[in-house]
Amino acid sequence: MGLVIDQSRITPQLAEKLKGICPFGAISFNHADGLHIGMGCKLCRLCVRQSEGAVTYVEEQSASVDKSLWKGVLVFCEHFRGKIHDVTFELLGEARQLAAVTGQEVMALMIGSSVRDEARELYRYGADRVYVYDDPALKDFLIEPYTNIFHSFIETVRPSSILVGATNTGRSLAPRVAARLGTGLTADCTSLEMNPDTDLVQIRPAFGGNIMARIMTPNHRPQFCTVRYKIFSKPRRTGSDAEPVMMPVLPWMLKSRETILEIEDKPQDIDISEAEIIVQCGRGVKSKSDLSMIEEFASLIGARMACTRPLVENNWFDSKHQIGLSGRTVKPKLLICIGVSGAVQTVAGMKGSELIIAINSDSEAPIFDVAHYGYVGDLYEIIPRLIKRIKEGA
Ligand SMILES: Cc1cc2nc3c(=O)[nH]c(=O)nc-3n(C[C@H](O)[C@H](O)[C@H](O)COP(=O)(O)OP(=O)(O)OC[C@H]3O[C@@H](n4cnc5c(N)ncnc54)[C@H](O)[C@@H]3O)c2cc1C
Ligand code: SF4
Repeated sequence: MGLVIDQSRITPQLAEKLKGICPFGAISFNHADGLHIGMGCKLCRLCVRQSEGAVTYVEEQSASVDKSLWKGVLVFCEHFRGKIHDVTFELLGEARQLAAVTGQEVMALMIGSSVRDEARELYRYGADRVYVYDDPALKDFLIEPYTNIFHSFIETVRPSSILVGATNTGRSLAPRVAARLGTGLTADCTSLEMNPDTDLVQIRPAFGGNIMARIMTPNHRPQFCTVRYKIFSKPRRTGSDAEPVMMPVLPWMLKSRETILEIEDKPQDIDISEAEIIVQCGRGVKSKSDLSMIEEFASLIGARMACTRPLVENNWFDSKHQIGLSGRTVKPKLLICIGVSGAVQTVAGMKGSELIIAINSDSEAPIFDVAHYGYVGDLYEIIPRLIKRIKEGA
């Protein structure tokens, strides 16, 4: 798609008018070459309407894809040396529901070394068919071999929709594979719907969480999306397992310019997504030194500390502790929000928590719309009292 200029209709007067119209300064004119539209053009089409037919907008001819050649929903299995990440099971549960709309298969793809037994587990969480690429060189995630294999697999098996966890691995792998296939990718979906014609509606917050965008890939296959961890529930482990389909690993697939020298475990306290009890601090906490009071409370109840975005911006916390749209999504058994207003961007990352308790001095604070229990009051009175009661064993 783009703009086409009929230079025979461009007069110096019209060129001056169009230059004045373009809000992005993308139009230039000289007598020798005529009207020129530069890289700054945002295709807003204001000039088209005012050009008296001299500039026209041409739609891209959509490549017609035969959707009947692409079938089923594929889940990419993320794992570390065979230990499957829970996001994979969550996606399999969602894939089951999506595939039920079209009556097609749920597939899972696992790439690794000596993972045949672990791959069988994927059947128990909803996969109809599990494919495995197994080779010692695939023991750890390396972007080039994993991209080669994922790409080759898609061209061979042709899944219609592909779900990948929006983890560090998924976020680096999925866009590369989607780009190779020349198809779209919707990152960080929070909800998915399947149309009966196999078009996948990929839903995610946009414009700071104020609207939910419904994104589709109607003219291309496959349809690719990443989904955040803890957005969907992990299904119950049921049924029986089966043998995976072992796929051939060819030498060209393993080419890599990277070598992993060493893997270091990250400190345990960093990943709040895994925590069962979380205390989230907001701007109601007035100074950094006051955090020690909240930390004492958190340690007494075995909770991990988390925060809202302003506290990251103040450098009181590392960004890995931020819950919300631009932070982590959490789904703990218990979340206690202390001095958190409940902005839409915060709530986007925690509304799936099993039990939410809010402490806020403002009875009108939106956090009380999502909290199951609320204390209206000053955190500087409530938290010391709670600490005292817990220490007294009350
Ligand atoms: C694109 C975008 C992405 C964003 N992403 C995120 C995100 O991922 N996570 C996030 O958290 N924010 C995010 N934000 C910011 C968000 O909009 C809010 O500004 C932020 O969450 C507010 O943080 P807060 O609740 O700590 O502070 P405030 O909104 O200032 O709320 C403080 C609360 O503390 C209460 N309070 C004050 N004193 C006391 C006291 N003594 N005792 C008890 N309560 C008290 C007040 O009543 C108030 O409700 C994002 C914003 C944008 C535009
Ligand atoms: S389409 Fe919009 S941005 Fe592009 S040249 Fe015309 S006025 Fe400028």
